Amino acid sequence: MNQFNDFNLSPLMKKTLAAANFIVPTPVQAGAIPPALEGRDVLATAQTGTGKTLGFLIPMLERLEKTAVKSIQTVVLLPTRELAMQVQATYNKLGASHRSVLVVGGLAERPQLDAIRRGASVLIATPGRLEDFLNRRLLKLDHVRMLVLDEVDRMLDMGFRPAIQRIVSVLPRERQTLCYSATLDKQVEEVVGQYLKQPVRVEIGHVLKPSANVKLRAFEVPVAKKQVLLEHLLQSEEGSFLVFVKTKHGADRVAQKLTRSGWGATRIHGDRTQAQRTAALRSFSQGQHRVLVATDVAARGIDVAHIAHVVNYDLPKVAEDFVHRVGRTGRAQKQGIASTFAAPEEKNDLRHLEKKLSIQMEHFRVKEIVAC
Ligand code: AMP
Repeated sequence: MNQFNDFNLSPLMKKTLAAANFIVPTPVQAGAIPPALEGRDVLATAQTGTGKTLGFLIPMLERLEKTAVKSIQTVVLLPTRELAMQVQATYNKLGASHRSVLVVGGLAERPQLDAIRRGASVLIATPGRLEDFLNRRLLKLDHVRMLVLDEVDRMLDMGFRPAIQRIVSVLPRERQTLCYSATLDKQVEEVVGQYLKQPVRVEIGHVLKPSANVKLRAFEVPVAKKQVLLEHLLQSEEGSFLVFVKTKHGADRVAQKLTRSGWGATRIHGDRTQAQRTAALRSFSQGQHRVLVATDVAARGIDVAHIAHVVNYDLPKVAEDFVHRVGRTGRAQKQGIASTFAAPEEKNDLRHLEKKLSIQMEHFRVKEIVAC
């Protein structure tokens, strides 16, 4: 079973996957798709970049009722609108005849409600907006046969537990549930115990560890020299850069300075409107801007193919964020580089990060770099 062709998939799905050049399933797909096709609940611990989206979209599509039922059959819940938009984009690539609808905050309600009324089968939502629609009785979920909870750990971190509870309470008990999480802590275990029935466990490698495809570098650099170092890296390396900055204000500042120095840079953070974020992501993924400067929350759902270089301009607050940031590069078997900047007084934090994740970065002092 090492190709999609060996799976128990419809001829149409096999053809679609081959046409999109998806030939060999990733480990999470190989583990999660067969039991999901059989109707089993699945709990998969997998990070972003492992191919988990297709891991749930493929069985979901295969199990959709083929008859022209004009009601929602599947609910996919995710933490952010960017992630929701990307799941919908991947869904659209699969060329399904069933309509999907996005129900997420920050976008106008009317088109979302119209799409539901026109008869969407697949609902891709963030918990807040969906709960709001349910409370206002704007939609019904009593024909749902499958629930997908993606990035559950993040949804719980963001305080969506009550919203998820409210949503699940209106779903039929007789349904299939697929659950994906990067980590498995007590909160996630509780959700799993409550909503999944004897799930098949799929665990891919060490849960909290950057991919082996990413070359990890650490730069000890005074705060005042970070911008120079970033521009030096832009000069000496090829490809697109995703730069992580701690604050929204900081993200604006770094992007402005890059622009002033002539680098094509755009930015994405919580104070930008949805239209601005979408435009920034699009121009970055299409290569009009080589650099995207982002904060952690805004960057969570980014799935841009072939990001060459991730820069931790500021250290992440927690080790888990480091893994998520770095997971934006080195995806789908491609090589990537992640450079982490740490001020001299942050040396201990850096060491702590390496210890916690059992990783060893290649260390540089900024003097050596700028001189070479
Ligand atoms: P995800 O973890 O779902 O965000 O997927 C990460 C990236 O891997 C996406 O850009 C996918 O298009 C790509 N991908 C997913 N599955 C496969 C596969 N079987 N073969 C090649 N690329 C894949």
